[in-house]
Amino acid sequence: MTAQETGPLTTESGAPVADNQNSETAGPGGPVLVQSQHLLEKLAHFNRERIPERVVHARGAGAYGTFTLTRDVSQWTRAAFLSQVGKETEVFLRFSTVAGNLGSADAVRDPRGFAVKFYTEEGNYDLVGNNTPVFFIKDALKFPDFIHTQKRDPYTGSQEADNVWDFWGLSPESTHQVTWLFSDRGIPASYRHLNGYGSHTYQWSNEAGEVFWVKYHFKTDQGIRNLAPEEAARLAGSDPDSHQRDLREAIERGAYPSWTVQVQVMPAADAATYRFNPFDLTKVWPHADYPPVEIGRLELNRNPENVFAEVEQSVFSPAHFVPGIGPSPDKMLQGRLFAYGDAHRYRVGINADHLPVNRPHATTARTYGRDGHLYDGRHKGARNYEPNSFGGPVETGRPLWESTALTGATQYAAAPAHAEDDDFVQAGDFYRMLDEDARARLIDNLAGALAQVSRADIVARAIGNFRAADPDYGKRLEAAVQALRG
Ligand code: NDP
Repeated sequence: MTAQETGPLTTESGAPVADNQNSETAGPGGPVLVQSQHLLEKLAHFNRERIPERVVHARGAGAYGTFTLTRDVSQWTRAAFLSQVGKETEVFLRFSTVAGNLGSADAVRDPRGFAVKFYTEEGNYDLVGNNTPVFFIKDALKFPDFIHTQKRDPYTGSQEADNVWDFWGLSPESTHQVTWLFSDRGIPASYRHLNGYGSHTYQWSNEAGEVFWVKYHFKTDQGIRNLAPEEAARLAGSDPDSHQRDLREAIERGAYPSWTVQVQVMPAADAATYRFNPFDLTKVWPHADYPPVEIGRLELNRNPENVFAEVEQSVFSPAHFVPGIGPSPDKMLQGRLFAYGDAHRYRVGINADHLPVNRPHATTARTYGRDGHLYDGRHKGARNYEPNSFGGPVETGRPLWESTALTGATQYAAAPAHAEDDDFVQAGDFYRMLDEDARARLIDNLAGALAQVSRADIVARAIGNFRAADPDYGKRLEAAVQALRG
């Protein structure tokens, strides 16, 4: 708990306040005076306390911590924070739900955001992941439409099952992630009991300029724990802040949650001939093909002191890379490289990256960007252009990531180029991986949701996708939906 400020109460400009209970009026019963400046300032400030909430991931909680490298991976990347066993890097991690508004409940069926900011000595590296290794769609062009179906309908003002299932049914690439979402892991018991995944494929490159493709995994050391739907419904109603408080209280009592960090590494040359498109966000890389390699431990050990300043105003961008780490051609990632920074500029402002939670902690940002809303004057009188003759910062000459070869002409849809690029094979793999009890719960959860849909054609199309993943999956789901719809 932070100590109270001491000294007399003041106005925003620091003048002492004589009376904080009564406005200044014209006589004993008279109207309030315009010169009652303390009142006007308080009301005006209050009216501006909210900034636009995030369109997605509005509801979240965050904490600081430490990433400790347990394996030197300099053979794959020249990133300095990944170069020396035992090296510690400060992190800030924000967990979130996706669809709900800022005040919504934590214990709901929804993917969880798992966004990590590594404050490295070469700049901040943001890994903006989820608690699922895959996603509903594979092209950012579809993202606004997808999220419209997850949020409130323009006519009813509520989330509508018809919209949700209409979009998923018409987007068969969502079948894998929808299966995940309606499985047990769709409602985590807390933020401490879930895995994080970088989800996208990223580029790593070593000092010699060799390129590797990687996927990140953060395995919870607390063990996976989930909520049964009935328990979640009860908790969401009785204790909407359950996950946020659980995280804060665990850190307050010294029970620091931690995650074992792993990577899957694919030599660049494998990408063209791999059985899946390795840049398709609706697919995992099966562990048998690319076994996860343990590289570190991430521990959360410090709560933010002010939720608005450090959680609400925290910004994470997949475009925040450091030397030795870069993007892949994943089309969802490419869209996110633009969309996140753009959201920050709208939501927090052009100087968002320079707020205490967002700015580099282990180095300094040295740019010729200047001014704008809430510019803090950090450059003082230094020249604001480059090149200059006054000794300002200059370019290094070496890009953060390596260039990769391109083929073909500009185009839109691409024909599948890998043997198993269809939309269903991994959804089927997931279904077949579950034991019988977990399959039965998955069918129950899906049937309960599909039974809310008003149009039979939307239900039939959705079931068709699950049938394509595995005939048994489709058959059982159809029977369960029929039993509920009568
Ligand atoms: P593996 O048998 O090698 O791995 C399956 C992985 O699935 C496990 O290691 C575990 O990953 C995860 N898992 C286990 N039980 C559940 C569950 N009830 N709900 C969700 N995930 C679970 O098989 P593959 O690598 O070939 O993958 C098979 C399927 O497993 C895929 O279709 C995918 O949906 C799912 N999966 C795969 C992951 C991957 O990166 N390969 C990661 C997570 C899921 P973890 O230790 O990360 O929990």
